[in-house]
Amino acid sequence: MTTVLDGGAVATVDATGTEHLRGHVVIDGGVIAAVGDGPAPAIEGATRIDASGLLVTPGFVNSHHHLYQWITRGYATDSTLFGWLTTLYPIWARLTPELVHDAAAANLAWLALTGCTTSMDHHYVFPHGAGDLLEAEIVAAAQVGVRFHPTRGSMNLGQSQGGLPPDSVVESHDAILTATAEAIDRWHDPGPDSMLRVAVAPCSPFSVTADLMRDSAALGREKGVRLHTHLAETDDEEEFCRATYGRTPTEYAEDLGWLGPDVWMAHCVHLSPDAVGRFAATGTAVAHCPTSNGRLGAGIAPVRAMLDAGVPVGLGVDGSASNESARMVDELHQALLVARYAGGPLALSARESLRMATMGGARCLGREGEIGSIEVGKQADLALWRVADLPGAGIEDPVCTLVFGAPTLEALFVGGRQVVADGELRTADAAALAARAAAASATIAGR
Ligand code: ZN
Repeated sequence: MTTVLDGGAVATVDATGTEHLRGHVVIDGGVIAAVGDGPAPAIEGATRIDASGLLVTPGFVNSHHHLYQWITRGYATDSTLFGWLTTLYPIWARLTPELVHDAAAANLAWLALTGCTTSMDHHYVFPHGAGDLLEAEIVAAAQVGVRFHPTRGSMNLGQSQGGLPPDSVVESHDAILTATAEAIDRWHDPGPDSMLRVAVAPCSPFSVTADLMRDSAALGREKGVRLHTHLAETDDEEEFCRATYGRTPTEYAEDLGWLGPDVWMAHCVHLSPDAVGRFAATGTAVAHCPTSNGRLGAGIAPVRAMLDAGVPVGLGVDGSASNESARMVDELHQALLVARYAGGPLALSARESLRMATMGGARCLGREGEIGSIEVGKQADLALWRVADLPGAGIEDPVCTLVFGAPTLEALFVGGRQVVADGELRTADAAALAARAAAASATIAGR
């Protein structure tokens, strides 16, 4: 089956940033068969979509998230990270597979409606006896139709051992490694068109022991999957690492084998110039989450310094309990604004923001050869933006409309399959997903 997107602007985000003010993209099966300037060639039997007034971009890659938090939004709205976490841990201790499924389905649907074709998830709360929470979200992702990279997260440093989370939501070291290996064996698909890849993701330095960090890295490398964790998010974490381990979070991570080309880290707000240099030298990638960092007052990540040093940087919405709007397209705007608050008017361009949201995220997930840009042979993961209707009309540069303006999504393709059409989800009933998520929110709150 061939689909032709004809007459729209195209921002390919290829290596040289090729753009067409009036161009075309040809989708053949699940992959991109052609992209270029001017009208599309005539192709017999192809479905033609008139893309005039639209901007075609690569689908966004959400490089850091916690889907289950969709049903615990609006808690601890004026709090530090540690205060926010200690408020939420006891609520998250009530998670069940049904609640995780309903949170993930609604959250992934909303991500799709805001331009996201691939999302990771970092699930690290596994209450004792709660059932298969990872399977629940994998089922939800298949229903919505987005490319999914769930990570098997973990916490084993409970309060009784000097950690932050209550003991009721931590697991044992051995149980975590066994469950993680099983999840990889059961779910991970390494193929180029994979819709499902698993990574290993102990939660953070203040909720996981050094032994588990080290052994998790070894397991991930033995299995050939990627490694993910939170790092250097707040001043509190910096103080915890210095007091507990006598090192900065980056020094601690490096000592445990946690810097490398197969690792991507969320946040990295508090990195010294030396730490940025270590990330660059080791090829360690960063998931920048500007809205969440603002919501929790964590600070502003040194994205300009990271990009200049050659650190791969993607964008993430982060969990919805610290980013209630969870609009992937907003992260491009937020990234640009916070970089300029910190570094002045030239600190980040709109096109750098777009590149982080697409190729940067693909690099975080180790998929830069398959997704993240509109190039022949890559997966047909595409977002079509309305840039000529009410919010965007009159802005000449469509990429400017996307990043500075208020674009709305017209359509979304994942591997050539149309997930959004006419601005509406086509794979599931959005109203039903919202109703189930509202009921799940009431259940977990004990209302
Ligand atoms: Zn997070």
